[in-house]
Amino acid sequence: MTALITITPREDGQLWTTSLGTSGTYSVGDVARVLGTGQNRLFKFLKARGILRSDRTPRREYLRLGYFRIVRGEYQRADGIVCEYARLPKFILQKETSFAIFVLLSREIMMHWNTTPKTSIHDEAGMRDILVWAGEKPYRLAQIYAEFYKNNKTDFSEYTTIPLWLRSALSEHVDTQSLSVETIQTSDDDQTTKILFATTDDKKIESVIMRHLSGRTTLCVSCQAGCPMACVFCATGKLGLEKNLSAWEILDQVAFAKEVLREEGRELRNIVFMGMGEPFLNYANVSSAIRILTDQKKWDFSSRRVTVSTCGIVPKIREIARDFPQVSLAISLHAPDDETRRAIMPVNHTYPVADLMDSLDEYVQMTNKRVFYEYIMIAGVTDRLELAPMLAELLRGRLAHVNFIPYNPGEGIMGRGHRPSSRLIIEKFQRTLERAGVPSTVRHTMGDDIAAACGQLARKETMSRTLA
Ligand code: SF4
Repeated sequence: MTALITITPREDGQLWTTSLGTSGTYSVGDVARVLGTGQNRLFKFLKARGILRSDRTPRREYLRLGYFRIVRGEYQRADGIVCEYARLPKFILQKETSFAIFVLLSREIMMHWNTTPKTSIHDEAGMRDILVWAGEKPYRLAQIYAEFYKNNKTDFSEYTTIPLWLRSALSEHVDTQSLSVETIQTSDDDQTTKILFATTDDKKIESVIMRHLSGRTTLCVSCQAGCPMACVFCATGKLGLEKNLSAWEILDQVAFAKEVLREEGRELRNIVFMGMGEPFLNYANVSSAIRILTDQKKWDFSSRRVTVSTCGIVPKIREIARDFPQVSLAISLHAPDDETRRAIMPVNHTYPVADLMDSLDEYVQMTNKRVFYEYIMIAGVTDRLELAPMLAELLRGRLAHVNFIPYNPGEGIMGRGHRPSSRLIIEKFQRTLERAGVPSTVRHTMGDDIAAACGQLARKETMSRTLA
């Protein structure tokens, strides 16, 4: 089999590969251009090496080639590659710093290389590497991204702004969607759609699309498979941590939801990191995802329409204020005092309420943004009447908005006997806050018939009304 390799000789005499190719059909002329040599010269060279055996003319001769990426700078041992180097003809060796060779590769090496995972389209460094291999100019990346992010094209064969052979190389080696859809369920009122995805390593994660009556749309994304925080009212917390999602896996949830909504003639407006997982325990990937989401040359989401929700990982609150001052912050507070909060949220052992509020004061100082406090109303647990004035005192004078969330019993998440609070109690809490000048709303529960409401995301594959 034939492969195209781009290698760089180092001063110490070792060879360093940058990329090499394995499959895909290209004309000798195309390959000659990549090598920076003449078509006839290359044709003669290939025939002399027995790589081309036909008697066709160079123009009618095609080579089966392609590429895959090797970590930049990784030394390639003599597996048939270095020894070939010594026998290269002068016209290829004349390039001083970087050149390409053809070699015959063993079946074993090919099989190993062919299993190299695809590069995600969101992986800018990986995409640049592919263009380097291809001998394409860096501006091609802007063309590819315009087609993907702006024109919403996920099929590379439709990328008419780039050459045909590059389209086929992208199809073979670049992923525009790494997640596979296991089930899609829509609530009876059609307002909520829950998507169960499988990652390539077969972890299950969920996203929820919400279509509000006002016409707004919101996507709730997951940032981890499972969650280690073990909040007692949360179904995800029961799973423990399975893995941190990559930035690409987070973005692929968005790509899928955008497509679903586009087919309905809607546009995705808000993105909330309130699905499975604690975003601040996967901060590096969450922040790369936010950067790509809000990049003007990519999806160009308004930062103000992105909300990150945390159970209260104090050091990261300061970090997000510095890194993304425009992104909204929601805090899962759920109780105003340490005793109640510790009983339902283990994170409070590490970061008690006073520390949390100190960091939030700094957050407000740095961003001048209102903080959203989530407060789950569980009868007899978080809705005890003595907690209402404590909550009011905690938030009095602070730039705050409270969202009361009626508890979703799910399938006995907290064990038997726990119920949502009555409407009357929630109103009492709201009135107490109002007197302290703290605005609040009661979150309209969406999707509880498909277990897509807050705290219910836990891979329940067998819900009612599963759509194809
Ligand atoms: S509420 Fe959030 S932080 Fe707590 S266990 Fe559930 S997903 Fe994790």
